[in-house]
Amino acid sequence: MNNNSNNYAPRDSDILRSSSKILDHHDREFDYLRLAVNEKCNLRCIYCMPEKGVKLLNKDQYLSKSEIKRIISLFTQMGISKIRFTGGEPLLREDISELIRYAKNECKIKQVHLTTNGILLNKYLDQLSRAGLSGINISLDSLRPERFKKITRRDKLQQVLDNIILVQDSVIPSLKINVVFMRGFNDDELLDFVEFTKTNHLTVRFIELMPFDAHQIWKTGKFYKSEDILNDLKHKVKGLHPITGSNTEHYIFQVDGYLGKIAIIPSYSRNLCINCNRIRITADGSLRNCLYSKEERSLRDLIRKGALDQELKEMVRDSFFTKHKDGWEAQRVKGNNRESMTQIGG
Ligand code: SAM
Ligand code: SF4
Repeated sequence: MNNNSNNYAPRDSDILRSSSKILDHHDREFDYLRLAVNEKCNLRCIYCMPEKGVKLLNKDQYLSKSEIKRIISLFTQMGISKIRFTGGEPLLREDISELIRYAKNECKIKQVHLTTNGILLNKYLDQLSRAGLSGINISLDSLRPERFKKITRRDKLQQVLDNIILVQDSVIPSLKINVVFMRGFNDDELLDFVEFTKTNHLTVRFIELMPFDAHQIWKTGKFYKSEDILNDLKHKVKGLHPITGSNTEHYIFQVDGYLGKIAIIPSYSRNLCINCNRIRITADGSLRNCLYSKEERSLRDLIRKGALDQELKEMVRDSFFTKHKDGWEAQRVKGNNRESMTQIGG
């Protein structure tokens, strides 16, 4: 529990705990659920997974389809307006379209998104479109085949590029490309990614590396700070003008006459914590109130003990009630973190 909790005025606490929404002491409301639906993956990105993969749990330790649906329904009652399915690789679940349809059509969640490495999109795109998916984020760190292979340890660039074209031709309204950007790794592709927005209707998002990788690459000087990415963009790209974007897109631009957009996500610098609205659930059903916090509470265990919705909601509210002001504060609390982002979902 947060050491600061003793400082809170009881009346405030009562209001926060009795609200139907998920609120905290820093005037934040949490209405965006990021749900990891598995830990398995068909790539081995070097900043995310060890080559041999992460040690998987037994099948029954992961949330089942009906438990995932119960969680979606529960959070709908608590006022969420957006859900993102992530993983591991969410398209390795055959029931992913059913879960999306459930969130969108039965729970009436306004925005239902998916983060994927894009490899299997050709197989699922029709189903995903019919299920009402609002948007897809595809992770793509290099436009060069050899480098893509080196980063992901798989030779699949062309498949991802072909699938990006399919998504643009589909009815799915939003397409974003996540590029984990690192010095001496892929930073020489800055202009290539900018050019990628010339004729493609999508947003390229340069993302800061975060310290969740088995190899701890982030300690090797490859870290590329968002402010530096911003300066390089401004110096190297002509015709760049600022536009408006989503909450996480701290800096967002478009080049004059280009169809797509360019954004920078300061995921390590953490200057967006004050506007945090995210709730994270891991594939084994643990609730995390901050990406950088090691504290988890198991919704799965409570569900399997036969808990009523009210008890589950209390656990959720209690977790956010004690949420740290920002990721720096959360990180200072000692404990063991998960080995890889594939276990947290990004
Ligand atoms: N497999 C899917 C994918 O790659 O899009 C979804 C899961 S992946 C863990 C979610 C996002 O986290 C991806 O955009 C990936 O690039 C990002 N990611 C993984 N490890 C990271 C790290 N150490 N730092 C920053 N982003 C990371
Ligand atoms: Fe798999 Fe996504 Fe991690 Fe790459 S970033 S290894 S695609 S989970």
